[in-house]
Amino acid sequence: MFDGQSHAVDAVVIGAGFSGLYQLYRLRELGMTTRVFEAGGDVGGTWYWNRYPGARCDSFSAQYSYSFSPELEQEWEWSETYPAQPEILRYLNHVADRFDLRREITFNTRVSSAHYDPAANRWTVTTDSGATVAATYLITAVGCLSTPNKPSFPGIDDFKGAVYHTGLWPHAGVDFSGRRVGVIGTGSTGIQAIPVIAEQAGQLYVFQRTPNFSFPARNRAVTPEEIAETKANYHELRAILRASPGGLTYGIDPQGSALEVSAEERERTFEGLWNRGGWAPLLAYTDLQINLAANNHLADFVRRKIASIVKDPATARVLTPTDHPIGTKRPPMDTNYFETYNRPNVTLVDVRNAPIEAITEKGLRTGGKEYELDAIVFATGFDAMTGPLFRIDIRGKDGMALKEKWAGGPKTYLGIQSEGFPNLFMITGPGSPSVLSNMPVSIEQHVEWISDCLKYMREHDLARIEPLHEAEEAWVAHVNEVANYTLYPLANSWYIGANIPGKPRIFMPYVGGVGNYRQKCAEVAARGYEGFALT
Ligand code: NAP
Repeated sequence: MFDGQSHAVDAVVIGAGFSGLYQLYRLRELGMTTRVFEAGGDVGGTWYWNRYPGARCDSFSAQYSYSFSPELEQEWEWSETYPAQPEILRYLNHVADRFDLRREITFNTRVSSAHYDPAANRWTVTTDSGATVAATYLITAVGCLSTPNKPSFPGIDDFKGAVYHTGLWPHAGVDFSGRRVGVIGTGSTGIQAIPVIAEQAGQLYVFQRTPNFSFPARNRAVTPEEIAETKANYHELRAILRASPGGLTYGIDPQGSALEVSAEERERTFEGLWNRGGWAPLLAYTDLQINLAANNHLADFVRRKIASIVKDPATARVLTPTDHPIGTKRPPMDTNYFETYNRPNVTLVDVRNAPIEAITEKGLRTGGKEYELDAIVFATGFDAMTGPLFRIDIRGKDGMALKEKWAGGPKTYLGIQSEGFPNLFMITGPGSPSVLSNMPVSIEQHVEWISDCLKYMREHDLARIEPLHEAEEAWVAHVNEVANYTLYPLANSWYIGANIPGKPRIFMPYVGGVGNYRQKCAEVAARGYEGFALT
């Protein structure tokens, strides 16, 4: 048992969400002593913190789950096609209990620094409770979207009402009945929360800077027949996910170019997939994410949908995205999002041309007008991918800070390691498919790759691993090259750090596909960890 004082273990894992729990399980299997530090009061990561109304996953429930235990697969049953936050949190708690994982986790404890000592080949990890732990391996399982971004509007401290960030939602929930609520932000989170808050609030003001494309999820209960079929076919399903581009399957194989079919046929195809739900329309043709003209056809289709759903033409116009190709920002998925603007208690406020000037004592001022509010909800997203790592003072060889090394953008080899930081492994780090994939699939792949690597090191009597300079440079160039082949870089998205003032604009995730990436990682390992220096 960890006594809270000085301590030495084989590995420290930071975070007890999907990644940290599975990494702990695999380290235990290897017989390694492990300490997991978790800032939250319990397991769950993203699903522990993001308890806002309407929080739900955009991956199909059976696909958004662990594959490592056939028994777990068979005993757990999801109730809806897209799982809601409480159900995912219950699942992760079940996993923690079932595999008795909590005993190596220290909760309510944030890692403040991790310094590498080359002489001892050890990481010294310090927490906000003052404990220090020495570890041979340091594994970050900190999530990609776990550092809330809360813009510092002037006057924020003057506001007399309640302020919430969706990523730090009160556990007891919030009752908005009869209240005047302002929501800032219309990303995936805002788009999920707005319809639910609108049903409760007296008056809801949505402060929108950039309109977003959104697809109706068409979430529904899973039938007993579907549960039985999934359970009978998990093995095949996992194989499909692992080889797929996004770690997710709709059972749709994109066919041909959107530019090679008639307008009528294209419309029919889009309409069929729109009615099917979720991101299905993005899978209609092979060139939607690489050819602007093809992309425009789908974008126009969704723009026409917005115009047909939203009754007030002026509101519909403000809700219509024109500044980025569809799918180049993480596409939200909704339940009654555009329909919500037909409610008499919902007002859309365009803060694109008249940015939010200040939060006042009574509410929020924009365009010279003050909106009186009882509560403000920040659905303003996260400092993605690098934010959670930079929150920790990570120093490698020669005392070099990770933040310093990555000042111009993250540099990794395979998104798993960074030169100068030996024995530091990042689960779903920048430069890996991560946020462009169904996370559990990418998480399991990383955890298994890391665990196999540690086993290999033990078997070969190796003490240190870090990337070679050339291998890292080549990987960073490759990540950029494949991103530039797509339309992704055309959007001011959090994928390129555009949501955080001053953050370098580099496309952070790897867009080359989960299946291809897995193969590359496997080849590197099969060649004795090619591109890494092992000593
Ligand atoms: P986000 O996509 O970054 O959206 C933040 C929103 O806040 C944007 O509309 C942004 O406007 C607005 N905003 C930020 N600063 C502002 C300012 N100073 N003034 C006015 N508006 C401002 O964050 P998110 O919605 O939390 O989503 C982040 C990611 O989390 C998603 O893309 C997704 O990967 C994940 N997520 C997944 C699910 C799911 O699976 N269902 C649900 C929620 C989130 P601009 O666009 O103009 O910057």
